[in-house]
Amino acid sequence: NEFASLGLSAPIVSALTAAGYTQPTPVQRRAIPAALEGRDLLVSSPTGSGKTAAFMLPAIQRLSTETVSGADRSRSRYPVARPRLLVLTPTRELAVQVSRAAETYGRDLRQLRTVSILGGVPYAQQLAWLKRDPEIIVATPGRLIDHLQRGRIELSALSMLVLDEADRMLDMGFVEDIETIIAATPASRQTLLFSATLDGKVASLTRTMMNDALRIEI
Ligand code: AMP
Repeated sequence: NEFASLGLSAPIVSALTAAGYTQPTPVQRRAIPAALEGRDLLVSSPTGSGKTAAFMLPAIQRLSTETVSGADRSRSRYPVARPRLLVLTPTRELAVQVSRAAETYGRDLRQLRTVSILGGVPYAQQLAWLKRDPEIIVATPGRLIDHLQRGRIELSALSMLVLDEADRMLDMGFVEDIETIIAATPASRQTLLFSATLDGKVASLTRTMMNDALRIEI
């Protein structure tokens, strides 16, 4: 199986087989092994190219293999959620798709609760979801900032940050929100950025947030 040869583990490969994926797409072939090595990635890849799996597969594999110290998790005082993976998306629709992908690909992995944090969903509903202390949060930037400011989400345990459709987030005026969010994450995090284009506004955002990023253009 070609997914296994990219370094993905058996439970993930079996979920992909169940989803009917027979072989990786070009962006998956290039991004997955590098992300599994721990590299930061700057990827330009259009919608429909399989980019969601290109970040979600290595991300959930990292979460499933990472040992989380007891002290670290127990500091998670109810009801403060301390996710290990955060995916930022420009729109609610995309966030819902990304959450579904996490559930599909992670179905054979234990302990990967996913919550989406979106504008337009009642606050009380989101607080109820956050009480599950999800490992994965998929969010639009504005609403995530609300929860950070109210102390409902803390990003100090984050091991990976993904910016999906970064150019669209910047076009929508989210640059300050994104910078605030990044400032709340540990410097040790791994960062994966996906965008239709990597120049202009995206280039200036990435200058400070990436660590020796590998550039992949599809
Ligand atoms: P995306 O570019 O992430 O929006 O993905 C586009 C569509 O392709 C989604 O419906 C995925 O479920 C599907 N997909 C992603 N990777 C593969 C693959 N390796 N084989 C078959 N379908 C895929």
